Amino acid sequence: MIENIPTTPRRGRNSPDPHLDRYAARTAGMTASEIRALFAVASRPEVVSLAGGMPNLAALPLETLSTQVAQIIAEDGLTALQYASAHGLPLLREQICDVMALEGIRAHPDDVVVTVGSQMGLDLVARLFCDPGDVVVAEGPSYVGALGSFAAYQAQVVHVEMDEHGLVPEGLRAALRQARDAGQRVKLLYTIPNFHNPAGVTLAVERRAEILEICRTYDVLVVEDNPYGLLGFDGQTHPALRSLDPDNVVYLGSFSKTFASGLRVGWVLAPRAVREKLVLATESATLCPPTLNQMIVSRYLATQDWKGQIGTFRNIYRERRDAMLSALERYLPPGCTWTRPDGGFYVWVTVPEGVDTKAMLPRAVAARVAYASGTGFYTDGLGSRQMRLSYCYPTPERIREGVRRLAGVLESELDLARAFGGVESLRIPGPQTLSPATV
Ligand code: PMP
Repeated sequence: MIENIPTTPRRGRNSPDPHLDRYAARTAGMTASEIRALFAVASRPEVVSLAGGMPNLAALPLETLSTQVAQIIAEDGLTALQYASAHGLPLLREQICDVMALEGIRAHPDDVVVTVGSQMGLDLVARLFCDPGDVVVAEGPSYVGALGSFAAYQAQVVHVEMDEHGLVPEGLRAALRQARDAGQRVKLLYTIPNFHNPAGVTLAVERRAEILEICRTYDVLVVEDNPYGLLGFDGQTHPALRSLDPDNVVYLGSFSKTFASGLRVGWVLAPRAVREKLVLATESATLCPPTLNQMIVSRYLATQDWKGQIGTFRNIYRERRDAMLSALERYLPPGCTWTRPDGGFYVWVTVPEGVDTKAMLPRAVAARVAYASGTGFYTDGLGSRQMRLSYCYPTPERIREGVRRLAGVLESELDLARAFGGVESLRIPGPQTLSPATV
């Protein structure tokens, strides 16, 4: 009957998005990350960007790589340009096992599933495990891309505190107990044990077994996200959680930080039953990961000194970390504190009371320095006194200059806060309040 045909009252010519009433409910959790909004401004040459996490690729042997890519196409083009298995190329999966062995993981290549970056691994894991309303426990703060994947599947993220030794086991136990008492279903612990993004800390080796034990007790699967594990500045690696409890850990790895992020090659190492589901999920997401890119990574690993290249990356990042830490020491006003990363890309800064890092960001960009404000790394509104500074991309000189500019902005915010009991009351219309995307 014609009266029963549902109407679509919200769609109309004047609606900003004429498809508003068509979207699936899960899209409500899909919002642009603060970091993405910043990208356009932060990439202007006059702005020192301490915001993004772009790996520093300048040290890659580009000539050799270009010869290799040409060779792959000339010698094996009909394979390289063709569809392949959803599981990933067998040789690459074997090589990935050699990479993981550096962190104590003994794995069979059959249990590795190649993905389009570890970001796709995160999406697949969320797709396989998260029903709407399920709880995922994660460090507070946590990686913004993971929070996005969990939100897209309508999972609720509960943050657990960290300290300078990483996730606090007692905090984890308390969060799991509380969720259980509240009748919530906790499916996953999502954790970045090494050189955390954004916190810059590493989970103490002594805590690792305890955290795995707690997850076993509460029947929670562990998702170990480890893109930075080989980038420890002293060359030291830490035993992967996966190496300590292979049956209850899904491990995500990536070549983005140790080779080339634009190739988009990552992987998931999963317990066998999960791996089968992952392959099915990959088929429906992409049919297969890009064959040519897998062959490029595979040839690189087979013919180049990839461990030496990682050593070169470490040296580059160590020098930049040192530049950032000494600049923070020299320039930041009293009352600021920050973490001291032993590897990876990021420093997590806490500013004194009275400063709101999200509100301050447009003023910082106007002063030609950008950072990622802390709020983007939490789902519960925390982080307004924190910011993530990345040292991976700019030169040491630019890092020093960026921190100097940031310190100037912070000083002004603190002056205002002292004079007027908070900068909130002083929000003036005009260029100073332009959103980062429009400055
Ligand atoms: N996990 C973490 C913790 C990250 O920092 C990143 C990238 N910044 C990713 C996953 C995704 O990396 P990719 O998809 O490039 O492998």
